[in-house]
Amino acid sequence: KERFLASLRDLDESVPSPNRVVDRFAATKRAEIGYFANTPDTDPAVTENRTRIRAILERVPASTLGSGLHTIESRAELDAAMEKAAAASWGGADRRAVLHRVGEALESHRDVLLEVMAAEAGKTIDQADPEVSEAIDFAHYYAELSADTPDGATPVPARLTLVTPPWNFPVAIPAGSMLAALAAGSAVVIKPAAPAERCGTVLAGIVRDALAAAGADPDLVTLLQVDEGTLGRQLIAHPLVDRVILTGAYETAELFRSFREDLPLLAETSGKNAIIVTPSADLDLAVKDVVSSAFGHAGQKCSAASLVVLVGSVARSERFRTQLLDAVSSLEVGLPTELRTQVGPLVEPAAGKLLEGLTTLGAGERWLLEPEKLDDSGRLWRPGIRDGVRRGSAYHKTEYFGPILGIMTADTLDEAIDLVNDVDYGLTSGLHSLDADEARTWLDRVQAGNLYVNRGTTGAIVRRQPFGGWKRSAVGAGTKAGGPNYLVGLSGWAPAPALI
Ligand code: GLU
Repeated sequence: KERFLASLRDLDESVPSPNRVVDRFAATKRAEIGYFANTPDTDPAVTENRTRIRAILERVPASTLGSGLHTIESRAELDAAMEKAAAASWGGADRRAVLHRVGEALESHRDVLLEVMAAEAGKTIDQADPEVSEAIDFAHYYAELSADTPDGATPVPARLTLVTPPWNFPVAIPAGSMLAALAAGSAVVIKPAAPAERCGTVLAGIVRDALAAAGADPDLVTLLQVDEGTLGRQLIAHPLVDRVILTGAYETAELFRSFREDLPLLAETSGKNAIIVTPSADLDLAVKDVVSSAFGHAGQKCSAASLVVLVGSVARSERFRTQLLDAVSSLEVGLPTELRTQVGPLVEPAAGKLLEGLTTLGAGERWLLEPEKLDDSGRLWRPGIRDGVRRGSAYHKTEYFGPILGIMTADTLDEAIDLVNDVDYGLTSGLHSLDADEARTWLDRVQAGNLYVNRGTTGAIVRRQPFGGWKRSAVGAGTKAGGPNYLVGLSGWAPAPALI
């Protein structure tokens, strides 16, 4: 165990990132927590699990879980809800013990969460199940971080935190944001994203029940919906809100700031993520990781790989392209109710930037695989691969939140890193290489928060790969979710580290 922990520490130390402004408190906490056992996903090799999953999928078409969320209709109603929410308090309750109980409650409701994610948010079980594990991890990890404050600091916890999560991770992200705020001593108002409000409703219900069962005030969590527009703006700018945790597009963070100038905002925003493949790479592994990173959940992840940059002989030979084409052509596109589905539906029909990305080519580009719309609603798309993406083109620079991957080429690793860095965002980044010097060069130079060598770029794991980016991928405090600094940034104990 000691050797294992030491190797994790070494790894942490070797990764450059502005988020590595690790203060003494965080380092101490990490040493105290030591080994953190992540929650295992459902094992499909176990017969009973397969039976369970089939039963869940059979319930999905008629599922009404989480329906009927109350929408606030007027300013007076909003003010009343916010006042009640701000009056909730932890009192003398033991946050650490209560949050561990919340983690247990989430585990015992795993099936219900899977059902509502498949029914409402287009999540296949293989994508939804790790989300529940991540939510449980957040509960146990933040429970441990909640226990005390850094030496000599005076905690000034936010009284009320507003959480505005996205629809693409409709359980893990709202759970993580909400539980972090709770662990930091705050009460929470959560406004789920409209396409995932049933998921938010089920989740908030589980957390509230668990709070009550553990002797804490269930009103520490208030779930409400408002239409975007005047009331939405009033919610974000509400004077009782001490802090907003947003996960969404960079433009949304800017919009929130325009509603209230002094808004204390912690936002995880957009990405334009690439995987570099060098001639030393294990190409079979690289293809597998590029495919899962680009097309898992139909590419609807901030962390998804949108570009693959082929270096030197990998760019010149046809082998990588041929294997990639084979792999992507064989993906099963369909609804989450089919167990064989590998690429599920778009949550919102392709429109705007995404539709352009799926239907038009830039100068010098060609389809290695042309995306194809498979249904009238515009939600099911056979994934696309565009080859010949040029530096500075729209595809190089723009985030497309869907099942589309671009190929760029470079003569050298340095040139490839320049291409990867030449975007506004810096969320995740991948390298496939079996050469340690190449890995070191890349780690030193690449501008992204989450760096993955010989692994896909999605699926960060609490404590192991705290999640968050730089540049336009983060707005505000910039500390990483699921990492030792997250509560420090939220609690007002210390100024959050500045981003480079
Ligand atoms: N944390 C998720 C991952 O590592 C991504 C979250 C997002 O898309 O916002 O894949």
